[in-house]
Amino acid sequence: MALYLLKLGELTLKGGNRAEFEGVLKRNLTAMIRGSGARIASTDGRFFVSCPREAEARTEQVLDRLLGIAGWAKTRSCEKKPEAVLAACVAEGKRLYEEGSRSFKIEARRTDKAFPLDSYGIRCEGGNAVLDALPGFRVDVHEPQSVINVEIREKAYIYGTSHEGRKGLPVGTAGRGLLLLSGGIDSPVAGYMMASRGMGIDGVYFHAYPYTSEEARQKALRLAEILGAYTLGTRLYTVGFTPVQVRIKEGAPQPWATVLLRMAMMECAEKLARRIRAKCLISGESLSQVASQTIENISCTESRVCLPVLRPLIGMDKDQIIKTARNIGTYETSILPYEDCCVLFSPLHPVLRGNPAEAGALYEQLQLDGLIEDALCGGIMEKCGFPAREESGG
Ligand code: ATP
Ligand code: MG
Repeated sequence: MALYLLKLGELTLKGGNRAEFEGVLKRNLTAMIRGSGARIASTDGRFFVSCPREAEARTEQVLDRLLGIAGWAKTRSCEKKPEAVLAACVAEGKRLYEEGSRSFKIEARRTDKAFPLDSYGIRCEGGNAVLDALPGFRVDVHEPQSVINVEIREKAYIYGTSHEGRKGLPVGTAGRGLLLLSGGIDSPVAGYMMASRGMGIDGVYFHAYPYTSEEARQKALRLAEILGAYTLGTRLYTVGFTPVQVRIKEGAPQPWATVLLRMAMMECAEKLARRIRAKCLISGESLSQVASQTIENISCTESRVCLPVLRPLIGMDKDQIIKTARNIGTYETSILPYEDCCVLFSPLHPVLRGNPAEAGALYEQLQLDGLIEDALCGGIMEKCGFPAREESGG
């Protein structure tokens, strides 16, 4: 059996709500490892996952995707006897040395005060035992290349430098939001960022077939699939928006087309959000990234909706966004060449500083209500990303 220890990070700041947050984390983890043979145990604010050797890769993948943990480490456990603990320190030291580490220190924590060595004693004796066994290894208390951690609890646990967790809060502790998910780089990152604050994420994709291709829709679905691995499933609503786009193209001054389209998307998304009980809308807008995202145009875009519109990327530059997209695994899909919005509908000279009153008047003239309602009724819903395909075996 392999054993993993999880560190909780921000959850520990939750005071009176901590138990509730931990409960959600445990529920999420249970769902994510279901069927692998892994088991979860929690004691004293620590979570442990044990699993058969053949499920190690899957367990590590789950821990890498789990939102709400600061870190995790593969751990040895042994009896609470000094000689067993020192032997485990040596074994862990050998593993780290073989991985190429040349300096280490020992960190020790002892919640069981009956253990004969105190934490200072564990650090000294553990260090000596490792040095005796591995003369090439050096102690460096200030900048060690690796750390051997010893925790004396109901058992003794010994582990090396831990892996970074995804941090944030467990999905399901902050309600659900509806993400306007295009096939681009930004919106999946926006969804992930809100998920990492505990929000469950559903998505809506506005499709303008045949002006945008079936491949563009498949791309949005694939992105929802990747996002769904973090969110414990994302439902993607595909809404056919061609009639709305055509009406805007034919009935509005060309420079306004994109802003009016974004207004229609927001209005439609809000209607959908109310039906599925999402508490907010989420978009991938980033200030001044493109013409439709100047602060004036953003004011126009949201002027007809009442639900909060969350824009977690608003202050991020493209490099930061791309870095996150790579980290969560959406980047390669996002840059596939199928556009989610057709050049036919994009004005050559878009308005840069729209005025919400003017935008509202133009929008009213288009009388989009019926078209938006029809689009919504004709939408289709697909569940994406959970359980993951390779995990469900189909
Ligand atoms: P992205 O990379 O997310 O496509 P972008 O920089 O291309 O963003 P825009 O095309 O101006 O920006 O879109 C701004 C936001 O509007 C997107 O981040 C997304 O939230 C939403 N959006 C745009 N097009 C669609 C669409 N076809 N379906 C759903 N949402 C969309
Ligand atoms: Mg886009």
